[in-house]
Amino acid sequence: DVRVRFCPSPTGLPHVGMVRTALYNWAYARHTGGKLIFRVEDTDAARDSEESYRQLVDALTWLEIDWDEGVEKGGPHEPYRQSQRLDIYADVLQRLVATGAVYESYSTPEEIDARNEANGRAKQLGYDNFDRDLTDEQRAAFRAEGREPAWRVRVPDHDVTYVDLIRGEVTFPAGSFPDFVVVRAGGQPLYTFTNPVDDALMGITHVIRGEDLMPSTARQLALYAALIDAGVTTFVPRFGHMPLVLGETGNKKLSKRDPQADLFLHRERGFIHEGLLNYLALLGWSIGPDRDVFSLEEFTAAFDIVDVNPNPARFDQKKAESINGDHIRMLEPADFATRIVPYLAAAGIVGEEPTDAELALIAKAAPLVQERVQLLGEVPGLLGFLFAQDVVYAQDALSSLPADANEVVIASVGALDLVPEAEFTAAAVQDALSAALIDGLGLKPRVAYGPLRVALSGRRVSPPLFESIELLGKAETLRRLTGFVQ
Ligand code: GLU
Repeated sequence: DVRVRFCPSPTGLPHVGMVRTALYNWAYARHTGGKLIFRVEDTDAARDSEESYRQLVDALTWLEIDWDEGVEKGGPHEPYRQSQRLDIYADVLQRLVATGAVYESYSTPEEIDARNEANGRAKQLGYDNFDRDLTDEQRAAFRAEGREPAWRVRVPDHDVTYVDLIRGEVTFPAGSFPDFVVVRAGGQPLYTFTNPVDDALMGITHVIRGEDLMPSTARQLALYAALIDAGVTTFVPRFGHMPLVLGETGNKKLSKRDPQADLFLHRERGFIHEGLLNYLALLGWSIGPDRDVFSLEEFTAAFDIVDVNPNPARFDQKKAESINGDHIRMLEPADFATRIVPYLAAAGIVGEEPTDAELALIAKAAPLVQERVQLLGEVPGLLGFLFAQDVVYAQDALSSLPADANEVVIASVGALDLVPEAEFTAAAVQDALSAALIDGLGLKPRVAYGPLRVALSGRRVSPPLFESIELLGKAETLRRLTGFVQ
């Protein structure tokens, strides 16, 4: 059975590259009926933070990427935070020392450089495997000097080849990397160790991760061979390396510092998780020619890791927003109304806990904008005037007014005043206004309704006018219009 993992380190804010990794692993688990394990790689106390950990959990929860085992959930391989697994790493280390796959290394960086120089060996080649075959006496002598050893894996002297799920056959030539440190002097286990050890102990079958991690695969394969030898596991997982995500311009990787990389910024601006995940799914995969929009169910049904394209994918903000707009339109109206509440609250338009009257107005107003927005963050600007006591007039809206704006507004007040309160519907409002302004004053619709839009909403762009007037109600509409006339 397929077992995949999402195993971020809790440093900094969740970013979209990380989300795509989680998404592909999740989709593969759901596609195959396998399991997704959510493990947190937090052994670097200097860089990892609890806040970042909480944000990771918040991110996956918001995205509705659910996991089968892991942090906050438990499972047969607890604990799932590496900072709580140090005993396990110490134990595995001893087993690898016993088979001779891992050895004590006393060389300091200065000593390594000096030896390379003396031997005419390029400095970039790094460690020279000097401590591989130290005798017991030599080790004792180093310890007597007060030195503490680091622990290194003995790498094979032959080429290492594996078949990448996305890239096909990959070969790391013999001698391309030296024996590497897995546990530092002092006992801190490194990513090079904890990551494959946990993958082995947790029975991970497919390692699906970013292309930037491909170089570490060579080392991990060497370590896996040692883990099998020591009886820690019985098999090597398959590896698949997803393409890089490039920023909007140039050929640079989308950096953590790019605003487009910031997951929570996308949420704040009003991406819904369905839209964002649909877009991120396209960064390296496609459901078919000429088709960009699909549901998460369609995605998991169709997704296979071997179909992922190895070429770099470019983040395209406009396309992401347009796909999000499509998903917003696909929401049930009541669902859409619920999802805009936090955005209206954040803009101060309704309270954190909206009143029943506010909720009722939101439900009625939501359909006026659901078809028109790509981001939920656009909604407060469009609907705010319905909730406000005092209209805020935008400068560009005021300067767009024609000279006869007052005349239009005055005629409208007269016409709307005649519509009975009980019959104050969008249709009745439209009839009354059109009779007065189009037929009566002979105005073109744009000229007739522009000033009303500004007078009532303060903006040039608003939801449909007659529906908005119905929602404002007769008294409030007349109050705003009469107040507007100078
Ligand atoms: N903790 C590693 C990272 O966040 C995981 C890499 C991997 O998937 O192997 O980069």
